[in-house]
Amino acid sequence: MEFARASSVFNAMEPIVVSFFEEHILPNYSLKCGCDKCATDIIVLTLNHLKPQYTSTQAGQAYIKALYMNPQMQSDILQELTRSLQIVESKPQHQLAE
Ligand SMILES: [Zn+2]
Repeated sequence: MEFARASSVFNAMEPIVVSFFEEHILPNYSLKCGCDKCATDIIVLTLNHLKPQYTSTQAGQAYIKALYMNPQMQSDILQELTRSLQIVESKPQHQLAE
C-alpha cells in the first residue's frame, strides 16, 4: 500500500521548535555535545511531546508567526526543549568518536 505525502500540509511546530532551539537554547546552554545527532534528537523529542499544529502551506507563514508570538506557546516550547535536552544529555544516542 502506498501513502501519498500530502505536501501542502505540515506541522507548524517544526520550524518553530528549530528556531527556538537555535535562538534560545544554543546561546544560553552549554550543551555537553554539539553534534548533529544530539541536536536532532532534542528537536525530535520536543516535537513528540508537544501537540502538533498542522497547517497548510498557503496559511503557513502567518499561522507560524502567530504561534511563535504566543507567550503560552513560547513557555511550553522552552520547557519541553529544556526537558528534552536533559534527557538526551543523560543518554546520548550518538556514535562516540573512536
Ligand atoms: Zn552528540
